[in-house]
Amino acid sequence: MPKYVLALDQGTTSSRAILFDREGNVCASASQEFKQYYPQPGWVEHDAEEIWQSQRAVAEKVMAEGPEGRVGPETLAAIAITNQRETVVLWDRATGKPLNHAIVWQCRRTAPMCDRIRQEGFHPTLREKTGLVTDAYFSGTKIAWLLENVPGARERAARGELACGTIDAWLIWNLTRGRTHATDVSNASRTLLFNLRSLNWDEEILRYFRIPASLLPEVRSSSEVLGDTDLFGASVPIAGVAGDQQASLFGHQCFRRGAVKNTYGTGCFLLMNTGAEIPHSQSGLLATIAWGRQGKTVYALEGSVFIAGAALQWLRDEMKLIQDAAESEAMARAVPDTGGVYFVPAFVGLGAPHWDAYARGTMVGITRGTNRHHVVRAALEAIAYQTRAVVDAMAEDSGLRPEVLRVDGGAARNDFLCQFQADILGIPVDRPATTESTALGAAYLAGLATGFWNDEQDLSRQLRIARRFEPAMEAGRREELYAGFERAVERAKGWAV
Ligand code: ADP
Repeated sequence: MPKYVLALDQGTTSSRAILFDREGNVCASASQEFKQYYPQPGWVEHDAEEIWQSQRAVAEKVMAEGPEGRVGPETLAAIAITNQRETVVLWDRATGKPLNHAIVWQCRRTAPMCDRIRQEGFHPTLREKTGLVTDAYFSGTKIAWLLENVPGARERAARGELACGTIDAWLIWNLTRGRTHATDVSNASRTLLFNLRSLNWDEEILRYFRIPASLLPEVRSSSEVLGDTDLFGASVPIAGVAGDQQASLFGHQCFRRGAVKNTYGTGCFLLMNTGAEIPHSQSGLLATIAWGRQGKTVYALEGSVFIAGAALQWLRDEMKLIQDAAESEAMARAVPDTGGVYFVPAFVGLGAPHWDAYARGTMVGITRGTNRHHVVRAALEAIAYQTRAVVDAMAEDSGLRPEVLRVDGGAARNDFLCQFQADILGIPVDRPATTESTALGAAYLAGLATGFWNDEQDLSRQLRIARRFEPAMEAGRREELYAGFERAVERAKGWAV
């Protein structure tokens, strides 16, 4: 009788393994950091071999130190994978060795290539077919770069000797000892090569980037048996795969159209379930695949805020206004409001829905009476205002108004922020008991595929909201405050020249 699902959570800075039981409880977990490589300004790389070794090590650790001693492979219902998205690995099919360091999603090396694509007029095609924008962030240009720049890669790829994929595909390949080269639709939808409508690699786009289809993994749903691993001594199915943000949406049980989750970390990542329809954004949000399951594809709108919790880090490290991020809560509560101060942390420009690369951080409304409490409070409020801007854009694009916002991430621990978020959105904010929505979402996808859980209803019995924050602000006040932030954003725009 299987007792657990083992989730592998392969993130940007660490590899983690988490063992979930049938109630969705975390029974054991382990984590290991790995090295970041910055070979040139703006370039970011990982050693794919180290990613695999660290992922394998934490999985073995969790299996060795389970809740009741060693966990036997026969007690695993399935293995689930959730991963840092867009990062690509190119490897040799014969030896399984990477030809190059993995190019990480943050890496800007293909920005000039993206400029060329726009000049050549191919951007509208990419946007229409993939739901994404022409940006170095996504995998397609990174793969094209590898084929262009790794000696011999193009010829060897043409001969079918190489394989390429996002981190999920790399882990699946290694878990199955090279028997399976596959990815799931949610990861495929982040590559800039995947057609949202046909649910296939897009031939026209592959031709444009000169990427042979034989290089790419087979695309499967997010919840099915993709392969088996014998890594733990007996065969265990790999049955759930999703990119980290999509897995988090599933882990939050945002199963219905219009359901939204927000992860408050360094920045914010918002996803809205838009159901069976491919969303079209007028506000620069991304259209992406949330997951594929039981022959159905669920789409999502995605928007991110570049600077959220990072504004608190800046107040701590550069301005020395706080000693740690948690202290911001008491400081914000020490004053009834910001005294008219607005802080727009556009340190690296503004993302959706403004898309202004030239915007820079600003603080307005400062008077002689402004003190550090006001400034700290303004930083927290800014996270909530920026989130509202994305939620409004999602509602506008989809015609769906979310009933509640589900939250996670480091800054979601801040009660003041959660309450202010509810106030400024005018809908409740739900903070689940688990802090593992991402890994849990992947585990759910794997457990549903193998009968460990029956259906979504089965899962909904597990959902535990630790705290609900009800909106308490009067509507007039809410709109007045938000209008002030929008005015402040106008001041921040177009500053850098
Ligand atoms: P990431 O995965 O992006 O590194 P985390 O989810 O670990 O982020 O969250 C870390 C971020 O959350 C940091 O930017 C930090 O400033 C912020 N943060 C952590 N705790 C709090 C808190 N109590 N209040 C506000 N911000 C916080």
